[in-house]
Amino acid sequence: MSSQGQARKVLEQIFGYASYRASQQEIIDCLIAGQDALVLMPTGGGKSLCYQIPSLIRPGVGIVVSPLIALMQDQVLALQQQGVAAAALNSSLTPAEAQHIKRQLLNGELQLLYVAPERLMTDSFQALLRQIQVALFAIDEAHCVSQWGHDFRPEYIQLSTLHETFPQIPRVALTATADEPTRREIMQRLDLEQAKHFISGFDRPNIRYRVAADSSNSRQQLLHFIELDYPGQAGIVYCLSRRKVEETAAWLQRQGIKALAYHAGLPQQVRAENQNRFLREEGVVIVATIAFGMGIDKPDVRFVVHLNLPKSLEAYYQETGRAGRDGAPAEALLFYNLQDVITLRQFVDQSDADEAHKRIESQKLERMLGYCELTSCRRQALLAYFGDHLEEPCGNCDICLHPPKTRDGTEAAQKALSCVHHTGQRFGVNYLIDVLLGKDNERIRRFSHHQISTFGIGAELNQKQWRGLYRQLIAQGFLALDREGHGGLQLTESCRPLLRGEKTLLLREESKAEKKGKTRGKRHYGGTNTRLWEALRERRMELAQEQGVPPYVIFHDATLMAIMEQQPRTMEQMSHISGVGVHKLDAYGKAFLEVLAAHEQTQEAPVTDTVAESIELFHQGFGVEEIARRRGLKSSTIYSHMAKGIEQGSMVLQDVVSLDAERIQYIQDLMLEQGADNRLGPVFEALEESVDYGVLACIRAELSQRLDS
Ligand code: ADP
Ligand code: ZN
Repeated sequence: MSSQGQARKVLEQIFGYASYRASQQEIIDCLIAGQDALVLMPTGGGKSLCYQIPSLIRPGVGIVVSPLIALMQDQVLALQQQGVAAAALNSSLTPAEAQHIKRQLLNGELQLLYVAPERLMTDSFQALLRQIQVALFAIDEAHCVSQWGHDFRPEYIQLSTLHETFPQIPRVALTATADEPTRREIMQRLDLEQAKHFISGFDRPNIRYRVAADSSNSRQQLLHFIELDYPGQAGIVYCLSRRKVEETAAWLQRQGIKALAYHAGLPQQVRAENQNRFLREEGVVIVATIAFGMGIDKPDVRFVVHLNLPKSLEAYYQETGRAGRDGAPAEALLFYNLQDVITLRQFVDQSDADEAHKRIESQKLERMLGYCELTSCRRQALLAYFGDHLEEPCGNCDICLHPPKTRDGTEAAQKALSCVHHTGQRFGVNYLIDVLLGKDNERIRRFSHHQISTFGIGAELNQKQWRGLYRQLIAQGFLALDREGHGGLQLTESCRPLLRGEKTLLLREESKAEKKGKTRGKRHYGGTNTRLWEALRERRMELAQEQGVPPYVIFHDATLMAIMEQQPRTMEQMSHISGVGVHKLDAYGKAFLEVLAAHEQTQEAPVTDTVAESIELFHQGFGVEEIARRRGLKSSTIYSHMAKGIEQGSMVLQDVVSLDAERIQYIQDLMLEQGADNRLGPVFEALEESVDYGVLACIRAELSQRLDS
């Protein structure tokens, strides 16, 4: 068989995948042919297969250099699950264990060996390597060789000598960090000038980007988001301060979410414990400062939420990039308000950095703010910022899904700017708005601002709309925040043409009037088969615990989803599910077929007790609020019970919610536009938060009940 044919067979049988992604095949061919390669691929793009498959095809063992022990171990566990003879050699092993692996190496019993760079370069290990056949060297996280980045590891520098010592063995360097200086440094330091380059873009199409501006109840919204859109799923919530981390984690815990705090001020032991639970358990939400995340390679993080504005788009993209590494749908949700901008400004100005550095930092902050206030596709803007080009709007960000209305804001902007001018360029947004709205208060009187020309000229907009307008003026650089960090606003040069009326300004409509979103082709609506999903996950957890591995090592979420959608009935059908290779089919096929069979039988089974109790009370004539009070539960919980009843067909939507049929139809259309992933958050937002999350859950339940039947 040709080596290409062999590689494809490995792809299908060992890894259980039907086809290659993007440039995988070319990279694999290149390495099998014995050539060097430099691979730049976004996180989750599928870098591992690029060296794993050639290692299995070429004679000898593939040596993978990797900087993080936890990461190595996960990879090795996953490979072993697929029936590949893999091992890791690092400082966590006992001498006896290390000895065992060395013996396996000498006996030619290993197909892949992961090793830390410092160990690889020791004299004794180099001597060992000379006695065995090496298939290839893979240098993972190759950007660690770069002194530019923050992940620099001096041990990586020594890897340059591999080429001299083993000139015949192909080497592949892989990274997701793709900026030009880093790439050049990798090439030079690892002596890869002759290597073939495989450069993919940075896009992470499975991540949905959303921004919620000026949200007054972000905590509550976060709770709804987790409870209704991602119940029992793993996620990361980033906060700016340690205090906010602790408060948020504690609050979420009180609401029944499995939330854990993580920041640099916690004792080392607590941090390790929380991180470990996040990796090993299902459905842990980590609330953290940005201290969390480096080297975390958990593939099934379903959401990353920022409760505060990140300080740059670089930071934002890196942090959101921790979602959806397994390629399944994931979401990045960012809450921000003007106070964050003021706080971050203060950080910049009060830091010890020199002026040039501060200028760069504050430009980065402005770009971040600009991103938040976009009225066009967020992904296009993000990628453009990193020098990548996306032809069409993405269809998977909040703007694409619910295009905001824009309007001519020139006149209002002139009023807002002139109010800044007439009050002396030293007041913050709240005060300025009070003046515009003609508020009668002590402070305004003290400064005699009730006598200036802009007093009370802003009645056409309300407080929230003026706030939005100021935010956008700042984001677009017409106004600057004072350097002292008090939040005072100052005019910039660029606002002159606007004030003189030589330039018009398009503003995002703050109060998005309800309007039908663009009707895109209605995608298949997945239905909310939560019971089956939970049953599959439960089984996965059992299997994982039996073997002491994280659940995603058994099957990734994407594979579980495929099982749920395709509902195979035989082992042969199971073997066609993406992610089910020969070895896993053998080990787990039956177990999951059993879950499916059991589910089929219990389709008509009664709903669980707590749900039944709520429904019973409802049938007795109590309203949702009353049931919540009687049962000591939150009304959102009761609504979720009602939703289950509706989904099971034992209740009628119209009895539960008091919306008219037209309105319900409208909301369901919005839901269908969301497509396959069923999230309520975007619908909630599109409706201007006017419909309760619980009510939405019921409406969604009715829709899925109808579509399923
Ligand atoms: P990276 O190292 O680039 O971040 P991984 O190698 O971990 O990404 O791959 C990300 C996910 O994509 C994994 O779940 C992997 O199994 C899956 N994957 C990789 N290649 C394919 C493929 N050809 N078909 C389907 N899934 C794939
Ligand atoms: Zn978009």
